[in-house]
Amino acid sequence: MPIQIVRNDITKMKVDAIVNAANNSLLGGGGVDGAIHKAAGPKLLAECRTLSGCETGGAKITGAYKLPCKFVIHTVGPVWQGGGFGEREKLVSCYRRSLELAKKACCETVAFPLISSGVYGYPKDQALRVAVDTVSEFLSENDMTVYIVIFDKASYRIGEKLFKDIEEYIDDRYAEEHTDSVSERIRRMNAAPMPDFSKSIQYGDMAPMAAAAPSLADAVKQLDESFSEMLLRKIDERGMTDSQCYKKANIDRKLFSKIRSDRLYKPSKPTAIAFAIALELSLGETKELLMKAGFALSHSNKFDIIIEYFIEHGNYNIFEINEALFAFDQSLLGA
Ligand code: ADP
Repeated sequence: MPIQIVRNDITKMKVDAIVNAANNSLLGGGGVDGAIHKAAGPKLLAECRTLSGCETGGAKITGAYKLPCKFVIHTVGPVWQGGGFGEREKLVSCYRRSLELAKKACCETVAFPLISSGVYGYPKDQALRVAVDTVSEFLSENDMTVYIVIFDKASYRIGEKLFKDIEEYIDDRYAEEHTDSVSERIRRMNAAPMPDFSKSIQYGDMAPMAAAAPSLADAVKQLDESFSEMLLRKIDERGMTDSQCYKKANIDRKLFSKIRSDRLYKPSKPTAIAFAIALELSLGETKELLMKAGFALSHSNKFDIIIEYFIEHGNYNIFEINEALFAFDQSLLGA
Protein backbone atom coordinates (compact mmCIF):
# COMPACT_ATOMS: atom_id res chain seq x y z
CA MET A 1 0.00 0.00 0.00
CA PRO A 2 1.64 3.27 -0.99
CA ILE A 3 0.77 5.15 2.24
CA GLN A 4 0.42 3.27 5.47
CA ILE A 5 -0.25 4.72 8.89
CA VAL A 6 1.30 2.38 11.44
CA ARG A 7 1.89 2.37 15.14
CA ASN A 8 5.51 1.55 15.82
CA ASP A 9 8.86 2.71 17.10
CA ILE A 10 10.54 4.17 14.00
CA THR A 11 13.96 2.83 15.01
CA LYS A 12 12.59 -0.69 14.44
CA MET A 13 11.34 -0.07 10.90
CA LYS A 14 13.04 -2.21 8.25
CA VAL A 15 12.72 0.25 5.40
CA ASP A 16 15.21 1.88 3.04
CA ALA A 17 15.15 5.19 4.91
CA ILE A 18 13.72 6.54 8.12
CA VAL A 19 13.22 10.25 8.65
CA ASN A 20 14.42 11.97 11.79
CA ALA A 21 12.66 14.99 13.33
CA ALA A 22 15.93 16.78 14.10
CA ASN A 23 16.79 20.30 15.26
CA ASN A 24 18.79 22.94 13.36
CA SER A 25 22.12 21.81 14.78
CA LEU A 26 21.59 18.16 13.71
CA LEU A 27 23.59 17.30 16.79
CA GLY A 28 20.93 15.25 18.51
CA GLY A 29 18.13 16.05 20.89
CA GLY A 30 15.29 14.35 22.70
CA GLY A 31 12.20 12.58 21.41
CA VAL A 32 12.52 10.63 18.19
CA ASP A 33 15.90 12.25 17.49
CA GLY A 34 17.32 10.88 20.75
CA ALA A 35 15.86 7.43 20.06
CA ILE A 36 17.36 7.34 16.54
CA HIS A 37 20.84 8.40 17.68
CA LYS A 38 20.74 5.92 20.55
CA ALA A 39 19.80 3.04 18.25
CA ALA A 40 22.22 4.04 15.45
CA GLY A 41 25.28 4.45 17.71
CA PRO A 42 27.87 7.27 17.94
CA LYS A 43 28.95 7.11 14.28
CA LEU A 44 25.68 8.76 13.27
CA LEU A 45 26.49 11.80 15.41
CA ALA A 46 30.00 11.88 13.94
CA GLU A 47 28.58 12.04 10.40
CA CYS A 48 25.99 14.66 11.46
CA ARG A 49 28.85 16.86 12.73
CA THR A 50 30.15 17.12 9.17
CA LEU A 51 26.86 18.52 7.81
CA SER A 52 26.93 22.04 9.31
CA GLY A 53 23.35 21.88 10.51
CA CYS A 54 20.15 22.26 8.51
CA GLU A 55 17.59 25.04 8.03
CA THR A 56 13.96 24.64 9.11
CA GLY A 57 12.01 22.91 6.33
CA GLY A 58 15.22 21.45 4.86
CA ALA A 59 16.57 17.89 4.91
CA LYS A 60 19.95 16.08 4.84
CA ILE A 61 20.77 12.41 4.41
CA THR A 62 23.27 10.19 6.26
CA GLY A 63 24.06 6.50 6.73
CA ALA A 64 22.06 4.51 9.27
CA TYR A 65 24.87 2.59 11.07
CA LYS A 66 23.33 0.17 13.57
CA LEU A 67 19.74 0.84 12.53
CA PRO A 68 17.93 -1.77 10.41
CA CYS A 69 17.47 0.73 7.54
CA LYS A 70 19.97 2.03 4.96
CA PHE A 71 19.65 5.80 5.42
CA VAL A 72 18.52 8.38 7.91
CA ILE A 73 17.05 11.56 6.47
CA HIS A 74 17.24 14.41 8.98
CA THR A 75 14.66 17.13 8.59
CA VAL A 76 13.93 20.11 10.80
CA GLY A 77 10.26 20.85 11.44
CA PRO A 78 8.86 24.23 12.46
CA VAL A 79 8.07 25.09 16.07
CA TRP A 80 4.29 25.61 16.41
CA GLN A 81 3.52 29.24 17.22
CA GLY A 82 -0.22 29.18 16.73
CA GLY A 83 -0.31 28.48 12.99
CA GLY A 84 0.12 32.01 11.67
CA PHE A 85 3.87 31.93 11.16
CA GLY A 86 4.21 29.80 8.04
CA GLU A 87 4.34 26.59 10.07
CA ARG A 88 2.32 24.61 7.55
CA GLU A 89 4.50 25.60 4.56
CA LYS A 90 7.64 24.67 6.48
CA LEU A 91 6.20 21.34 7.50
CA VAL A 92 5.14 20.61 3.90
CA SER A 93 8.68 21.44 2.85
CA CYS A 94 10.09 18.92 5.39
CA TYR A 95 8.11 16.09 3.77
CA ARG A 96 8.86 17.21 0.20
CA ARG A 97 12.58 17.69 0.72
CA SER A 98 12.88 14.39 2.57
CA LEU A 99 11.02 12.52 -0.17
CA GLU A 100 13.21 14.13 -2.85
CA LEU A 101 16.33 12.95 -1.02
CA ALA A 102 14.86 9.46 -0.63
CA LYS A 103 14.08 9.35 -4.33
CA LYS A 104 17.61 10.45 -5.25
CA ALA A 105 18.97 7.65 -3.04
CA CYS A 106 16.68 5.16 -4.88
CA CYS A 107 14.67 4.34 -1.76
CA GLU A 108 11.53 2.30 -2.30
CA THR A 109 10.32 2.41 1.28
CA VAL A 110 10.48 5.37 3.67
CA ALA A 111 9.15 5.87 7.20
CA PHE A 112 8.30 9.25 8.71
CA PRO A 113 7.49 10.12 12.32
CA LEU A 114 4.91 12.86 12.79
CA ILE A 115 7.38 15.69 12.41
CA SER A 116 6.98 18.70 14.76
CA SER A 117 4.16 17.02 16.68
CA GLY A 118 6.18 16.39 19.86
CA VAL A 119 8.27 19.01 21.63
CA TYR A 120 7.72 21.43 18.71
CA GLY A 121 4.02 21.43 19.56
CA TYR A 122 2.29 21.10 16.16
CA PRO A 123 -1.24 19.75 16.88
CA LYS A 124 -1.12 16.06 16.08
CA ASP A 125 -4.26 15.86 13.95
CA GLN A 126 -3.08 18.78 11.80
CA ALA A 127 0.44 17.37 11.62
CA LEU A 128 -0.97 14.09 10.32
CA ARG A 129 -3.12 15.88 7.73
CA VAL A 130 -0.08 17.74 6.38
CA ALA A 131 1.89 14.48 6.31
CA VAL A 132 -0.80 12.54 4.47
CA ASP A 133 -1.62 15.31 1.99
CA THR A 134 2.00 16.04 1.11
CA VAL A 135 3.00 12.40 0.83
CA SER A 136 -0.02 11.51 -1.30
CA GLU A 137 0.70 14.41 -3.64
CA PHE A 138 4.26 13.12 -4.05
CA LEU A 139 3.04 9.54 -4.62
CA SER A 140 0.72 10.61 -7.40
CA GLU A 141 3.91 11.13 -9.44
CA ASN A 142 6.28 8.62 -7.85
CA ASP A 143 6.31 4.93 -6.94
CA MET A 144 7.27 4.47 -3.32
CA THR A 145 5.79 3.02 -0.14
CA VAL A 146 5.65 5.56 2.66
CA TYR A 147 4.90 4.72 6.28
CA ILE A 148 3.68 7.37 8.67
CA VAL A 149 4.64 6.12 12.07
CA ILE A 150 2.50 7.12 15.02
CA PHE A 151 4.31 6.37 18.24
CA ASP A 152 1.84 7.26 20.96
CA LYS A 153 -1.61 6.68 19.63
CA ALA A 154 -3.18 7.52 22.98
CA SER A 155 -2.51 11.21 22.44
CA TYR A 156 -3.58 11.12 18.81
CA ARG A 157 -7.10 11.86 17.61
CA ILE A 158 -8.48 12.85 14.27
CA GLY A 159 -10.31 16.19 14.14
CA GLU A 160 -12.67 16.34 17.10
CA LYS A 161 -15.78 17.05 14.99
CA LEU A 162 -15.21 14.24 12.48
CA PHE A 163 -14.41 11.85 15.31
CA LYS A 164 -17.65 12.74 17.13
CA ASP A 165 -19.73 12.48 13.94
CA ILE A 166 -18.37 9.04 13.18
CA GLU A 167 -18.83 7.91 16.76
CA GLU A 168 -22.48 8.99 16.67
CA TYR A 169 -22.99 7.32 13.31
CA ILE A 170 -21.55 4.09 14.69
CA ASP A 171 -23.71 4.33 17.81
CA ASP A 172 -26.86 4.85 15.77
CA ARG A 173 -26.11 1.96 13.44
CA TYR A 174 -25.12 -0.40 16.23
CA ALA A 175 -28.28 0.52 18.07
CA GLU A 176 -30.37 -0.08 14.97
CA GLU A 177 -28.78 -3.50 14.53
CA HIS A 178 -29.01 -4.61 18.12
CA THR A 179 -32.31 -3.24 19.39
CA ASP A 180 -34.47 -5.62 17.35
CA SER A 181 -35.39 -8.55 19.53
CA VAL A 182 -35.08 -11.96 17.93
CA SER A 183 -38.83 -12.47 18.13
CA GLU A 184 -39.44 -9.14 16.44
CA ARG A 185 -37.14 -10.08 13.62
CA ILE A 186 -38.82 -13.47 13.15
CA ARG A 187 -42.21 -11.77 13.12
CA ARG A 188 -41.06 -9.36 10.45
CA MET A 189 -39.59 -12.13 8.37
CA ASN A 190 -42.86 -14.03 8.51
CA ALA A 191 -44.85 -10.99 7.57
CA ALA A 192 -42.59 -10.12 4.67
CA PRO A 193 -43.85 -11.10 1.22
CA MET A 194 -41.92 -13.76 -0.66
CA PRO A 195 -39.15 -12.09 -2.61
CA ASP A 196 -39.67 -11.91 -6.33
CA PHE A 197 -36.51 -13.60 -7.59
CA SER A 198 -37.14 -12.84 -11.24
CA LYS A 199 -37.14 -9.14 -10.32
CA SER A 200 -34.05 -9.37 -8.19
CA ILE A 201 -32.13 -11.02 -11.01
CA GLN A 202 -33.07 -8.24 -13.38
CA TYR A 203 -32.85 -5.21 -11.14
CA GLY A 204 -31.32 -6.53 -7.86
CA ASP A 205 -31.26 -3.91 -5.06
CA MET A 206 -27.62 -3.45 -5.68
CA ALA A 207 -27.60 -3.28 -9.46
CA PRO A 208 -26.99 0.14 -10.96
CA MET A 209 -30.18 1.86 -12.06
CA ALA A 210 -31.07 0.74 -15.56
CA ALA A 211 -33.36 2.72 -17.81
CA ALA A 212 -34.72 -0.39 -19.52
CA ALA A 213 -34.94 -3.91 -18.17
CA PRO A 214 -31.95 -5.94 -19.38
CA SER A 215 -32.57 -9.17 -21.23
CA LEU A 216 -32.23 -12.41 -19.31
CA ALA A 217 -29.01 -13.12 -21.21
CA ASP A 218 -27.59 -9.76 -20.07
CA ALA A 219 -28.68 -10.38 -16.50
CA VAL A 220 -27.04 -13.80 -16.43
CA LYS A 221 -23.88 -12.31 -17.95
CA GLN A 222 -23.76 -9.73 -15.14
CA LEU A 223 -24.23 -12.43 -12.53
CA ASP A 224 -21.28 -14.30 -14.03
CA GLU A 225 -19.07 -11.24 -14.06
CA SER A 226 -16.11 -11.70 -11.73
CA PHE A 227 -14.67 -9.10 -9.34
CA SER A 228 -11.86 -8.19 -11.70
CA GLU A 229 -14.18 -7.96 -14.70
CA MET A 230 -16.56 -5.71 -12.84
CA LEU A 231 -13.68 -3.56 -11.62
CA LEU A 232 -12.28 -3.10 -15.12
CA ARG A 233 -15.73 -2.39 -16.53
CA LYS A 234 -16.35 0.28 -13.89
CA ILE A 235 -12.96 1.89 -14.55
CA ASP A 236 -13.91 2.18 -18.21
CA GLU A 237 -17.39 3.44 -17.45
CA ARG A 238 -15.94 6.13 -15.20
CA GLY A 239 -13.51 7.16 -17.94
CA MET A 240 -10.55 6.60 -15.61
CA THR A 241 -7.16 5.19 -16.53
CA ASP A 242 -5.95 2.12 -14.62
CA SER A 243 -3.25 4.11 -12.89
CA GLN A 244 -5.65 6.86 -11.82
CA CYS A 245 -7.78 4.17 -10.25
CA TYR A 246 -5.14 2.16 -8.39
CA LYS A 247 -3.41 5.30 -7.15
CA LYS A 248 -6.66 6.71 -5.86
CA ALA A 249 -7.30 3.32 -4.22
CA ASN A 250 -3.88 3.45 -2.50
CA ILE A 251 -3.07 0.12 -4.16
CA ASP A 252 0.33 -0.60 -5.65
CA ARG A 253 0.86 -1.20 -9.33
CA LYS A 254 2.00 -4.82 -8.94
CA LEU A 255 -1.13 -5.87 -7.10
CA PHE A 256 -3.28 -4.11 -9.67
CA SER A 257 -1.57 -5.98 -12.55
CA LYS A 258 -2.23 -9.24 -10.72
CA ILE A 259 -5.92 -8.41 -10.41
CA ARG A 260 -6.03 -7.27 -14.01
CA SER A 261 -4.52 -10.44 -15.41
CA ASP A 262 -6.39 -12.94 -13.24
CA ARG A 263 -10.10 -13.02 -14.01
CA LEU A 264 -10.81 -14.97 -10.82
CA TYR A 265 -8.56 -12.97 -8.47
CA LYS A 266 -10.03 -12.83 -4.97
CA PRO A 267 -9.03 -9.60 -3.21
CA SER A 268 -9.14 -8.98 0.54
CA LYS A 269 -12.10 -6.98 1.78
CA PRO A 270 -10.08 -3.76 2.39
CA THR A 271 -8.69 -4.01 -1.16
CA ALA A 272 -12.14 -4.48 -2.67
CA ILE A 273 -13.47 -1.51 -0.70
CA ALA A 274 -10.48 0.61 -1.68
CA PHE A 275 -11.46 0.16 -5.33
CA ALA A 276 -15.10 1.00 -4.56
CA ILE A 277 -13.88 4.23 -2.96
CA ALA A 278 -11.56 5.04 -5.87
CA LEU A 279 -14.43 4.54 -8.28
CA GLU A 280 -16.72 6.64 -6.06
CA LEU A 281 -19.39 3.94 -6.12
CA SER A 282 -22.71 4.42 -4.38
CA LEU A 283 -23.48 2.24 -1.40
CA GLY A 284 -25.50 -0.14 -3.58
CA GLU A 285 -22.74 -0.45 -6.16
CA THR A 286 -20.16 -0.90 -3.41
CA LYS A 287 -22.14 -3.81 -2.01
CA GLU A 288 -22.41 -5.31 -5.48
CA LEU A 289 -18.65 -5.09 -6.06
CA LEU A 290 -17.99 -6.58 -2.63
CA MET A 291 -20.39 -9.42 -3.32
CA LYS A 292 -18.31 -10.34 -6.37
CA ALA A 293 -15.41 -10.91 -3.99
CA GLY A 294 -17.55 -12.80 -1.49
CA PHE A 295 -17.97 -9.98 1.06
CA ALA A 296 -20.77 -7.88 2.48
CA LEU A 297 -21.17 -4.70 4.54
CA SER A 298 -22.98 -5.12 7.81
CA HIS A 299 -23.99 -2.96 10.75
CA SER A 300 -22.41 -5.30 13.24
CA ASN A 301 -18.87 -4.15 12.80
CA LYS A 302 -17.26 -0.74 13.11
CA PHE A 303 -15.14 -1.08 10.00
CA ASP A 304 -18.20 -1.50 7.78
CA ILE A 305 -20.11 1.32 9.44
CA ILE A 306 -17.20 3.73 9.05
CA ILE A 307 -16.98 2.88 5.34
CA GLU A 308 -20.71 3.40 5.03
CA TYR A 309 -20.39 6.75 6.83
CA PHE A 310 -17.90 8.06 4.28
CA ILE A 311 -19.82 6.77 1.27
CA GLU A 312 -23.09 8.24 2.58
CA HIS A 313 -21.34 11.58 3.08
CA GLY A 314 -19.88 11.45 -0.45
CA ASN A 315 -16.35 11.63 0.97
CA TYR A 316 -14.17 9.37 -1.19
CA ASN A 317 -10.79 10.55 0.07
CA ILE A 318 -9.13 7.27 0.93
CA PHE A 319 -6.51 8.94 3.10
CA GLU A 320 -9.16 10.61 5.26
CA ILE A 321 -11.00 7.31 5.49
CA ASN A 322 -7.79 5.59 6.58
CA GLU A 323 -7.16 8.23 9.25
CA ALA A 324 -10.62 7.56 10.64
CA LEU A 325 -10.15 3.79 10.47
CA PHE A 326 -6.82 4.18 12.24
CA ALA A 327 -8.40 6.33 14.96
CA PHE A 328 -10.98 3.60 15.57
CA ASP A 329 -8.36 0.80 15.54
CA GLN A 330 -9.64 -0.77 12.32
CA SER A 331 -7.65 -2.21 9.42
CA LEU A 332 -6.83 0.32 6.73
CA LEU A 333 -7.91 0.35 3.11
CA GLY A 334 -5.54 -0.61 0.34
CA ALA A 335 -3.44 -3.63 -0.42
P1 ADP B 1 9.58 17.49 17.20
O1 ADP B 1 10.65 18.25 17.96
O2 ADP B 1 9.71 17.63 15.71
O3 ADP B 1 8.23 17.79 17.71
P2 ADP B 1 9.68 14.98 18.67
O4 ADP B 1 10.74 13.95 18.64
O5 ADP B 1 9.50 15.70 19.98
O6 ADP B 1 9.98 15.97 17.46
O7 ADP B 1 8.30 14.34 18.26
C1 ADP B 1 7.89 14.04 16.96
C2 ADP B 1 6.95 12.88 16.98
O8 ADP B 1 7.71 11.68 17.07
C3 ADP B 1 6.00 12.87 18.18
O9 ADP B 1 4.68 12.61 17.70
C4 ADP B 1 6.50 11.74 19.03
O10 ADP B 1 5.42 11.09 19.70
C5 ADP B 1 7.10 10.83 18.01
N1 ADP B 1 8.12 9.88 18.49
C6 ADP B 1 8.91 9.92 19.58
N2 ADP B 1 9.70 8.84 19.64
C7 ADP B 1 9.41 8.07 18.56
C8 ADP B 1 9.87 6.83 18.05
N3 ADP B 1 10.80 6.11 18.66
N4 ADP B 1 9.31 6.35 16.89
C9 ADP B 1 8.37 7.05 16.24
N5 ADP B 1 7.89 8.24 16.67
C10 ADP B 1 8.41 8.75 17.81
